[in-house]
Amino acid sequence: MIVGIDLGTTNSLIAYWNDGAPRLIPNSLGSSLTPSCVSLDEDGTVLVGEAARQRLQTHPGRSASLFKRYMGSNKEFRLGKQRFRPEELSSLILRALKEDAEALLGEPVTEAVISVPAYFSDGQRKATRTAAQLAGLHVERLINEPTAAALAYGLHQRNSESQFLVFDLGGGTFDVSLLDMFEGVMEVRSTAGDNFLGGEDFTQEIARWFLDASGIPSKARDDAQFMEHLTARAEAVKRRLSDAPTAELAVEWRGKLYAQELSDSHLQQLMEPLLARLRIPLERTLRDAGVRAHDIDEVVLAGGATRAPMIRTLVTRMFGRFPSVAHNPDEVVALGAAVMAGLKARDEDLREVVMTDVCPYSLGVEIVRALPGGELAEGYFSPIIERNTVIPASRMATYSPTHDRQPKLVIQVYQGEARLVRDNIKLGDLHIPLEGGSREDGAVDVRFTYDVNGILEVEATRQLTQETHRLIIRGNEESLSDDQIAACFEALAELKIHPRDLLENRTLLAEAERVYTFLRDRDRAAMGAEIGEFETALARQDARVTAQARARLREAINYFERAKAFLPQLDLS
Ligand code: AMP
Repeated sequence: MIVGIDLGTTNSLIAYWNDGAPRLIPNSLGSSLTPSCVSLDEDGTVLVGEAARQRLQTHPGRSASLFKRYMGSNKEFRLGKQRFRPEELSSLILRALKEDAEALLGEPVTEAVISVPAYFSDGQRKATRTAAQLAGLHVERLINEPTAAALAYGLHQRNSESQFLVFDLGGGTFDVSLLDMFEGVMEVRSTAGDNFLGGEDFTQEIARWFLDASGIPSKARDDAQFMEHLTARAEAVKRRLSDAPTAELAVEWRGKLYAQELSDSHLQQLMEPLLARLRIPLERTLRDAGVRAHDIDEVVLAGGATRAPMIRTLVTRMFGRFPSVAHNPDEVVALGAAVMAGLKARDEDLREVVMTDVCPYSLGVEIVRALPGGELAEGYFSPIIERNTVIPASRMATYSPTHDRQPKLVIQVYQGEARLVRDNIKLGDLHIPLEGGSREDGAVDVRFTYDVNGILEVEATRQLTQETHRLIIRGNEESLSDDQIAACFEALAELKIHPRDLLENRTLLAEAERVYTFLRDRDRAAMGAEIGEFETALARQDARVTAQARARLREAINYFERAKAFLPQLDLS
């Protein structure tokens, strides 16, 4: 069984292809959305998902979220005394999803199609593969998120001819793809995106506005626990403004309450700079495909942030039509990944569907240019594979040394669209020894091969000797070596993971602790007593007693959160 996984910035989902349709798999709490959060309990046990999300506020120093943003980088997250790389944290999420699938399917799950933002670079894709490897999953295919979303939609229209655009705004990334569907062939025409633009930026903007507008002392910004709490409140306000004209953001700091009201029109104003950034990839996608906005037959929304009316209005205005909402935007990428899993498994129902994708950015090398006066200038970018080339793609170009008797030729590999390499992303370099002959003797054919997973291979062959060098992109210290992966494996194997079947109780406890932290005086003592009773009930290890205690604690949480807390009008979901 191959599963489809949406490894998201804020939430992750797992689905599989069954009986002619993609189906979502619930986690042990019965939800198909697992928050992409990890927390280390006081005894060193790893908590994943909702329990960890609750602990982001009560234990910010032992919890992590949004690590997808740092995939492929050297950033480490500190959870208590331990440090984790983004790949390791992602592997813990993948492992939890894998266990949920195994619990439902009753068989080991070892193969997956995993979605990644179309704009993920080579290093970020490799890091995603490493995360899967660490979780015991073989990646059958990395699929671009908007392509997956389109696949979930396109399936219903496989016999018609249409052109659609996928607008995918998740927690941390924005991707746009334009696709053609014709007689069962689905072809991505062009794609563009912004790796640092998502719903979380909208939330941060609200938090920033609040810090300025509320008159809260600036010292509050250094209080990590307060800042996590403020972010959670800003997130709740943002969601509330999706269906109410105003919402109040109120937080307590050092015993004093600070409150500000935000209207949807003010929110729109605050978000203008971010909304303006959405236009750039949209325009580029249309231009690259040579298509006008009103020629699009359907606009498909994916990613939780497209729930915001502001985004829907923007899309409606730009394309002159309402976006399609046949699928839940949170789920559509995972469903599409499951369709791809079905395609991979060559399922009968999908026999006639063919899918092609493109390379989202240009890939090339650094070259030296001769200036009019004969002087040589370094630092220019020479693309070998142009963006939006259909993949898999293989292209070759020939380069020669700039001087006779040059001892070696260094091929520096970059990705991006800028004219100068310093404005693009360096992927690595390849050193070709030349033992100093003439310029002609040093000519090298450089072949770039970009596969369907978005992974690049570079091969350089000297014309004179036919000797070949391959670039396993080195110089990219950020990606892990085999030895480092083995070391991560060992470190992860030593971690204690909270048992899946006990996660419901642990999650409830984490939620109760969060509510406790923000109560005071008698309410706090009462909540503390409720938590104590719940723990006593758990210790009795009797299923009926536990179920009753759970219901009681849930009631107490709801009471304190809705009726008694200092924020009566907000919902804390
Ligand atoms: P994803 O990464 O696709 O799970 O998207 C999650 C993002 O969607 C987060 O930044 C959420 O804040 C955002 N989001 C979810 N629901 C809403 C809503 N009702 N209004 C605005 N943003 C939302």
